[in-house]
Amino acid sequence: MEPTNTDILIIGGGVNGTSIAMALAGRNMGKITLIEKGGLATGATGRSGAMVREHYLNVELVRMASDAKKFFEEWPKEMGYDLKFQTTGRILLFNESDAGAAIANGEMNRTEGVNIETLNPNTTKEIIPLANLDDVKVSLYEPEAGYADPVATTYAFAKEAQKNGVELLTRTPVKNILVEGGRVTGVETVNGKINAEIIINVTGPWANTLIGQNDVPLPITPIRVQMVHLRRPPKLEKLEHIIIDHTCGAYYRTDGTPNTLVGGEAPEDMSEIVNPDTFSLNADHDFITRFWNRAINRFPDFADAICRGGYGSLYDMTPDGNPILDESPNIAGLYNVAGFSGHGFKLSPITGEMVADLVTGQSKSPHDHNFFRSSRFVENSLITPARPYSGRAHQ
Ligand SMILES: Cc1cc2nc3c(=O)[nH]c(=O)nc-3n(C[C@H](O)[C@H](O)[C@H](O)COP(=O)(O)OP(=O)(O)OC[C@H]3O[C@@H](n4cnc5c(N)ncnc54)[C@H](O)[C@@H]3O)c2cc1C
Repeated sequence: MEPTNTDILIIGGGVNGTSIAMALAGRNMGKITLIEKGGLATGATGRSGAMVREHYLNVELVRMASDAKKFFEEWPKEMGYDLKFQTTGRILLFNESDAGAAIANGEMNRTEGVNIETLNPNTTKEIIPLANLDDVKVSLYEPEAGYADPVATTYAFAKEAQKNGVELLTRTPVKNILVEGGRVTGVETVNGKINAEIIINVTGPWANTLIGQNDVPLPITPIRVQMVHLRRPPKLEKLEHIIIDHTCGAYYRTDGTPNTLVGGEAPEDMSEIVNPDTFSLNADHDFITRFWNRAINRFPDFADAICRGGYGSLYDMTPDGNPILDESPNIAGLYNVAGFSGHGFKLSPITGEMVADLVTGQSKSPHDHNFFRSSRFVENSLITPARPYSGRAHQ
């Protein structure tokens, strides 16, 4: 079979691959192809909590997240897409040990223009009256936060990219990235060879599988995480805020029905290193019990919930919990965009433009991709917050 040719090949049809395709499509870069081994959004994206918030612990991330939130509010209306973005409000609960950091981070976020309030237990109780707040000292409340539909978002980005000329190849696994004389020349797929001078590896937990023997592995670890689905009892039906419980690492987000998705980000929830090709997509019984018990501790009425199962998925974790957006130092033309560490959905519209800048050498985005350079891991300049929260594998 004759090889086909493209100028830029994006590997990975998640929310980040499609966002990059959409951003590059408007930049006169020749033929762009996006290739995905399954269907669109069938990786971490489709199983994402897809929460959209602005509160972060670093100024750069706050600014990216604020621009991303505006995108979710405005772009779908302007462009005629429905990303099903729901504003629910988001409350972060902190105990004594993190109260000082929460107050300082709330202040920093407000200085950056984020609509975020610092609440005491009494004012928190006014918003979530059925919560047991005995151990809560301080809360942060972002009334404009919410969640979107990650599948609808990815398909919208892909459709917009296609409208602007991007070719989409689904159900086409890439077997190898081809390298000659220190630069990429294309890929070998199950359907034959594709020549390309620029390859963008946006395969999340599979990023190192694709790099294979060609390059030094990226510091990305595939970690299995789990989500549990609870049907709220009638007393809790009005619980529609997203709750991030920093006292135990739990988070709760409704899905627009009386169901709540319960996730966990305590270190013990994120300790299972797996092979991304063989991990279990179902939730484990002990996780269901652990997450449900946390829910009951915070909202006693969850004891009457109905468990509707759960699922497993992957975080592509880096040592500082932030992504890599960079060209390989060893292989010209190979760009790696991975390691989103469980918070890459909301940032995706901004990431797409940052990567388009990286690849084209343009500076259209106000956000600097250099912040996410891969050399930070060897330069000992990790992205670390000034006021981190304790006991979190991911900030
Ligand atoms: C349970 C859970 C909850 C989350 N909640 C949130 C949240 O609330 N807010 C937030 O901002 N983020 C959240 N995230 C993180 C966010 O979902 C991810 O960071 C984001 O979806 C990653 O998108 P991606 O496009 O980089 O990767 P993926 O969606 O994993 O896409 C990578 C794609 O590459 C494809 N691929 C792999 N190998 C090959 C190959 N050889 N050939 C071709 N294609 C290949 C895969 O099939 C896959 O579709 C959550 C993640 C999980 C798992």
